[in-house]
Amino acid sequence: MINVTKTFLPPADEFNAILKKAWDNHWITNRGELVKELENKLKELLGVPFLTLTNNGTVPLQIAIKALGLRGEIITTPFSYVATTSTIVWENCQPVFVDIDPHHLTIDESKIEEAITPSTTAILATHVFGNPCAVNVIEDLAKKHQLKVIYDAAHCFGVKYQGQSVFNFGDVSTCSFHATKLFHTAEGGAMFTSDSHLHDTLFYHHNFGHKGPTAFQGLGINAKMSELSGAMGLSVLPYLDAIMTSRKAAVENYQELLANCGLRFMKIREGTSWNYSYFPVIFESEAILLKVMKVLNENGIMPRRYFYPSLSSLNYVKPQSTPIADKIAEQILCLPLYHELSLTDIQRITNLVKQNL
Ligand SMILES: *Cc1c(COP(=O)(O)O)cnc(C)c1O
Repeated sequence: MINVTKTFLPPADEFNAILKKAWDNHWITNRGELVKELENKLKELLGVPFLTLTNNGTVPLQIAIKALGLRGEIITTPFSYVATTSTIVWENCQPVFVDIDPHHLTIDESKIEEAITPSTTAILATHVFGNPCAVNVIEDLAKKHQLKVIYDAAHCFGVKYQGQSVFNFGDVSTCSFHATKLFHTAEGGAMFTSDSHLHDTLFYHHNFGHKGPTAFQGLGINAKMSELSGAMGLSVLPYLDAIMTSRKAAVENYQELLANCGLRFMKIREGTSWNYSYFPVIFESEAILLKVMKVLNENGIMPRRYFYPSLSSLNYVKPQSTPIADKIAEQILCLPLYHELSLTDIQRITNLVKQNL
């Protein structure tokens, strides 16, 4: 069977050798040696001033909303994973959906301003499939209207925009290191900011608000990464270059084999050094998508409808009209993409797709 993704697993002996340090220290969580080492390595690798490792990529969004003191309405995208919207609602704010740019699939920056009301406090947008939002336009709008900006950068490991890590944009960016993501720690994630004061707040928030064993800086939750996840991250890290190289080759093969057959691809924003994290294709209609998906499934190939349905249709948000996102959500399919996917597999997948358009 070929799944939409396949978790990269390092050789078990390499993972065990790193994990042994946790045994030697008899220390398996609460910011042990491995988590600190991973944090330092990632900071250097990504070129970010601050980061806090976390237990997943969802709680950091909640922490960011809390740390920035957001209330009222948050402008967001209907085309993302459910966590982007659910965290807004979880934090008692109201998501206001702005439709997406049909080419880049990110929030349409030209439609943000008309959605701003006196209750708007922030913009929470997703760099969809690692494709950056129009971060400069969004920054200008945020300055003009005194809004905070959070980026759900769950898909963005290794992405650079205009020569620097995409995690450096916005007040806070968050990433997911879930097993299905390009770089993973089984479960895990991170929060990024360039503001040292805000970094401190995020950090305290992720550890119950502790400022030392008996003092508290303020409110907090538990979002700490364990040493087990730290060990996984440290043992995946040496393979990153190889993972990226094989993903890039796979994407290029897909693009070549599916060129000029009527499928539409996501347009990567100019100035981006992309990470080949997903391979979405957009069909002419949902009917064709369903037909192709059925044939692929019958052949043991399991693409995934990312992202479907549109988040503006969730039963806990106020119904809002986002026709472009609603339509694309029905027409888009992520084809299998992972480090071990062979050219033969890609040929088989693309042949089945083309025969059923
Ligand atoms: C994976 C993902 C998340 C959630 O990350 P977890 O680590 O699974 O909590 C949030 N947003 C987006 C866009 C994602 O793809």
